[in-house]
Amino acid sequence: MISPSRRKFLSSTAALAATALAPLRAARAQGASKKTRLVLLGTGGGPRVIPNGRAKSANLIVANGVPYVVDCGEGVAHQLVRAGVALNTLRYVFITHHHSDHNLDYGNVIYDSWAAGLRAPVDAYGPPPIKAMTEAYWQLNRFDIETRIGDEGRPDLRKLVTAHEFKVTAARVRHPPIVHAYAYRFDAPDRSIVISGDTTYSPELIALAKGADVLVSEVMHLAGLENLLKKVPNAATLREHLLASHIVTEDLGKLAAAAGVKTLVLSHLVPPDDNSITDDMWVEGVRMHYGGKVIVGQDLMEI
Ligand SMILES: [Zn+2]
Ligand SMILES: [Zn+2]
Repeated sequence: MISPSRRKFLSSTAALAATALAPLRAARAQGASKKTRLVLLGTGGGPRVIPNGRAKSANLIVANGVPYVVDCGEGVAHQLVRAGVALNTLRYVFITHHHSDHNLDYGNVIYDSWAAGLRAPVDAYGPPPIKAMTEAYWQLNRFDIETRIGDEGRPDLRKLVTAHEFKVTAARVRHPPIVHAYAYRFDAPDRSIVISGDTTYSPELIALAKGADVLVSEVMHLAGLENLLKKVPNAATLREHLLASHIVTEDLGKLAAAAGVKTLVLSHLVPPDDNSITDDMWVEGVRMHYGGKVIVGQDLMEI
């Protein structure tokens, strides 16, 4: 069960400070010339390795030429390169919650940026314990980092990175048993984009996404889920977890309609590897309640 305190509505203004959004604000003030880009880097849900399947959760927003990476599932650095981002331009990293399919490459994408010549500061935002995880990553890789500083004349990566435990536009969403799971909203000069992270039906997400141009949401296909569960020994427990903490297509349609978003993008698809579920089937349940534009996400798709 979700406790009353977890149900407590976290207003999209209470949790705001917007340090990370300063470049967006500056761009808005100047009347930014460049279009804000949204690229789905990884659209598969869950931690399993899927041969030739969807990549792990990660999204890219490029606003005023600055890349913002939201979630760092395994392989995020490779997907960034495939999306045409020079890794040494990395500046902002956001983690929605600490499930491994969203954070396994958190440290690695920063490391890979350093290897690509990073010299400017990086700010990372996420729920606790992101600070401790960042410190632990430095410990894990201390030998290599210190060797390269001395041997290759690189700057000290540990001094370039600042981890923040929340100062952005965010709403806490419902993804039990994870208490700290967040959706992020980016208000760029030309469009507003909300990334749901993992969540079941959450009024908090409806409030955060109100009137947004684009909502990228996780989604689960109920019939596909039942097929998936037939193959696993822990089906009963897994079904309970999935239904309590993720959102099925029908409920997502209700949520998108209530939020009044203009475009809904389906991502973090569960099951991530069932090719018998066509795009039409993914959209079908959503359509029962939502009349706006629906896009079934694919890796590296730009929206
Ligand atoms: Zn996930
Ligand atoms: Zn999760």
